[in-house]
Amino acid sequence: MGRVLIIGAGGVGGVVAHKCAQAPKVFTDICLASRTLEKCKRIKNQLRRPISIAQVDADRPAEVVRLIRKFRPEMVMNTALPYQDIAIMEACLRTSVNYLDTANYEPPGEAKYSYKRQWAYKVKFRRKGIMALLGCGFDPGVSNIFCAYARKRCFDEIHSVDIMDCNGGEHGHPFATNFNPEINIREITQRGKYWENGRWHTTDPLSAHKSFDFPGIGRRDMYLLYHEELESLVKNIRGLKRIRFWMTFGEQYLTHLRVLRNVGMTRIDPVMFEGRPVVPLRFLKALLPEPASLGKNYKGKTNIGCMIEGVKDGRRRKIYIYNICDHAACYREVRAQAVSYTTGVPAMIGAMLVLNGTWKGRGVFNAEELDPDPFMAKLNIHGLPWILEDRSNEA
Ligand code: NDP
Repeated sequence: MGRVLIIGAGGVGGVVAHKCAQAPKVFTDICLASRTLEKCKRIKNQLRRPISIAQVDADRPAEVVRLIRKFRPEMVMNTALPYQDIAIMEACLRTSVNYLDTANYEPPGEAKYSYKRQWAYKVKFRRKGIMALLGCGFDPGVSNIFCAYARKRCFDEIHSVDIMDCNGGEHGHPFATNFNPEINIREITQRGKYWENGRWHTTDPLSAHKSFDFPGIGRRDMYLLYHEELESLVKNIRGLKRIRFWMTFGEQYLTHLRVLRNVGMTRIDPVMFEGRPVVPLRFLKALLPEPASLGKNYKGKTNIGCMIEGVKDGRRRKIYIYNICDHAACYREVRAQAVSYTTGVPAMIGAMLVLNGTWKGRGVFNAEELDPDPFMAKLNIHGLPWILEDRSNEA
């Protein structure tokens, strides 16, 4: 039924390739392309059915256009980095092909991500009769869908949302990031930001924190961060009075991060080194383990969910809706750790719903703008079952 081109053969791209390969009726033909062909080969060799592979530099729209014309996909799934979003969207527009990604655009020279440049493509995509589905990983992605499901099924009004992302796993390295190190460190070293009573509030990086007893994991400290889905959910969930995003970090991780920041290794501006400009964070990325390499010895679980409060039938209601994912089980299934898995599975589901015609739309969409029911059903089938706890009795 559908031909799909996956761009980016890292941790997430590998999971997407595995999960698409598991659904041959929907994904009849798969091409995995990336900057380094060797990484595509490694993933291809893990699969039980043949796929095509290709080398592409997705920073160059003309190269992506050439590849699209050759492979003729119905959808391009961008699992490369946020830097490539605009170039790949541009290539999709030129060739009239649907687009999906898992992280919003940010320019390399400034750690400031926003949907604005991608939303600006709305009219162009609509005119071409194609769809761009933005941020279809777990957070963003499933976090947006959980909010849309709560709005549709659980509440008359939603007043507050706390998105909580806990990785209770151990990978055995002194310091590693679970998704692309450069993107991850840029995200968490920014000022925190949340939305309350009609305006944005900012906090010093990693200064606001509290603890929560995560089902399946236990009590963990979590830190307030700005995260991209806040930008679209504030727009799309009407009546919202507050929305925040929290992520857990262990003491060892924070100590490493503090030292790296203090010595300047998280800087994103070039510094001259032996006569050549070097971006310290890019150099650091080259030293750190790749996310795709972490899976083998990873133990423990993730718990990512939304704590949502509001009103149903005139009474206060509070729910926690979440998924628990086991690192070792992910590795057994698709040779990846749970952070790549929880991102790649929703991307596959989003592509599936577009390709099989369940999600129809022309233009540029965030996940909460589409019907959450078929997506929620597929999460249970494809490896990310969810649990909804009524916590209305809690303060
Ligand atoms: P990785 O670093 O493991 O993989 C990124 C891949 O993209 C690498 O294979 C890299 O190639 C490739 N790539 C980079 N630049 C280009 C380019 N110009 N052309 C072609 N390929 C390129 O990262 P992850 O797999 O961990 O993350 C992938 C994306 O998923 C990121 O954008 C991340 O922010 C997002 N993400 C989203 C989450 C969510 O829940 N929504 C959670 C986790 C991640 P090479 O190996 O040659 O460098």
